[in-house]
Amino acid sequence: MTQQVEQHAFQAEVDEVLSIVVNSLYSHKEVFLRELISNASDALDKLSFRALTEHGLLGDDKELHIDLIPSEDAGTLTIRDNGIGMTHDELVQNLGTIAKSGTKQLAQQLAAEGKKDISLIGKFGVGFYAAFLVADKVTVTSRAAGSDQAWMWVSDAKSGFTIEPSEREARGTNIILHLKEDASEFLREYELRNLVRRYSDYVRHPIRLRVERQKPVGDEKDEKGNPKTEKVQEWETVNTASALWTRPKGEVTEEQYHDFYKHLTHEWTDPLAYTHFKVEGTQELTGLLFVPGQAPMDLFSNKQNKGVRLYVKRVFIKEDCEELLPEWLRFMRGVIDTEDLALNVSRETVQQERVTAGIKKQVVNKTLTLLEELAEEGETTRTEPVEDDESDEEGGEQRTVEVKIHRYHKFWSAFGRILKEGVHYDWNNKERVAKLLRYRSSTADGWTSLQEYVDRMPEEQKSIYYVIAESVDTARNSPHLEALRKRGYEVLLMADPVDEWVVEGLGKFADKPLVSAAKGALALDDTEEEKKELEAQTTLFSGLIERVKGNLGDHVAEVRMTHRLTDSPACLVTDEHGMSPYLEKILRQNGQEVPGQKRILELNPDHEVIQRLQELAKDDARSAEVDTWSQLLFGQALVAEGSLPADPAGFAKAITTLMRRASDKGEG
Ligand code: ADP
Repeated sequence: MTQQVEQHAFQAEVDEVLSIVVNSLYSHKEVFLRELISNASDALDKLSFRALTEHGLLGDDKELHIDLIPSEDAGTLTIRDNGIGMTHDELVQNLGTIAKSGTKQLAQQLAAEGKKDISLIGKFGVGFYAAFLVADKVTVTSRAAGSDQAWMWVSDAKSGFTIEPSEREARGTNIILHLKEDASEFLREYELRNLVRRYSDYVRHPIRLRVERQKPVGDEKDEKGNPKTEKVQEWETVNTASALWTRPKGEVTEEQYHDFYKHLTHEWTDPLAYTHFKVEGTQELTGLLFVPGQAPMDLFSNKQNKGVRLYVKRVFIKEDCEELLPEWLRFMRGVIDTEDLALNVSRETVQQERVTAGIKKQVVNKTLTLLEELAEEGETTRTEPVEDDESDEEGGEQRTVEVKIHRYHKFWSAFGRILKEGVHYDWNNKERVAKLLRYRSSTADGWTSLQEYVDRMPEEQKSIYYVIAESVDTARNSPHLEALRKRGYEVLLMADPVDEWVVEGLGKFADKPLVSAAKGALALDDTEEEKKELEAQTTLFSGLIERVKGNLGDHVAEVRMTHRLTDSPACLVTDEHGMSPYLEKILRQNGQEVPGQKRILELNPDHEVIQRLQELAKDDARSAEVDTWSQLLFGQALVAEGSLPADPAGFAKAITTLMRRASDKGEG
């Protein structure tokens, strides 16, 4: 093989991330170690999984471990593992690009904002590049398991990277950090030992630190009569090296759970909550599930790359095991370790195993229980670290502040949109998910649960009313709320297209039907008297109704009188089973074909404008004006619900004409 050095450029996004890392003034540079140890631990897990089926892959090198090798003389810290290793192409791919979706936008956004804030790099989930927080040059030598050839990757973060053939005795990876001058503390035994304890204690594999000790040489004495010693190098395991989830709950601190979460997910922020459980009896499993502290960039893409990890009897089987997590809980993270699957289960057949469905049920149940507890908890005071605290340069204590936090509301804002899907997809848990739904309301501040709504209902109110619009504000100002308001009824304001399916899937809550304020006739528990009055008004205005209908022709399905309104002259409603205009719009935007629905134009017989119109229609000299007014009523009803009239320019023109006429009259 020719000893050729290949020069490679980084993907543009990597350059962007690196420039943030290199220029960062962040004081918690030590996080690099956690990231690199996590990668090494993953590499050991991947190897042991492959070794389950590829006999002989481990060879004589059966003890898996991660080594930390500080070298004062060279000014380097090496993180070494005997894991899966990387081929030439994997080095180029894994350490030269960022595969995650959304990275490009985030990088561009950060560049545009001129932000060089290291805490933001956590959002990229790009642990390896954190090496450049402390190193001005990084050398990686790696040999993939099962290959004879090792490769060396070198970069100074400024000018791409090089790759050349190299030597390595056996499989695995060395990450050699050429430490910056101000990072020499990471050579000290004491510092490294502390960092491993602090950030990486739960790593299942032994993390060994190479230390130097003075040891007696035989029985020899020096001139003072003391035993003669010499410097020797030894390995000391510095972590507990047992899987965190196997430890009894009482022995694990919150901090350790948080650190484990960061290790697992490569997130930099604490989780919002977690649940650690053991199931015994017919099923045997241990689980540790986390609700993330913030939504990832690609929350809505169904392809998440980190979900729940499956272990069988402590052996890593599968990352992001979607068989264990329904789609509507795809934001959850964690680990499931089961005794009920055979160790030789393959990644592909996990799905077909009978026990898998049972495990999934447990995951759903434990997650819902955790969320219910959070909802129950309400607002609490918690001690949180000061973000981006730069005051503790010299390893002082992290400063903390007391903050009021409603963990469930925080969760709901970040992940509610996904959880809701459960109402639609999981019939067995529909009721439980329904209790966890939160909405804005026309009468209460903040989030409201359906139960709270029902508890506030006046006795005579029979249904739960809601309105769906493009935003909460549009919903709040919708004309459809008017009559409900007048009766003192609360309305739930929904602004998410998914809600349309959610309410449809739910149908009822606490035996009260969910009714759209913008659909159907909205009988509103009218009294007999009110019903009679509406009938009489319909007869009285029948001429006008015909005229408006004739003018609007095919644009509407029907024109009728309503008691739904108080302040507005008109509104548009959808028939009982129709789709809301908002959903229709979203579907169209997504390229779906939606048959154009004709809506019903409802007029308010008590409104001055409608009454005047009735008079105009009777006035032979001016009855032609009714047609312009009809168009305007229709147009403004569309605008009020957040839609555009079919001919916006024509609508604007009609308003101008009317304004001119009105002001002419004023002058005359
Ligand atoms: P992430 O770990 O979040 O995928 P990183 O930037 O930390 O992102 O690492 C990129 C990829 O490089 C990893 O997914 C892994 O495939 C590979 N990698 C990193 N470190 C090692 C290692 N020590 N051994 C084998 N592969 C590694």
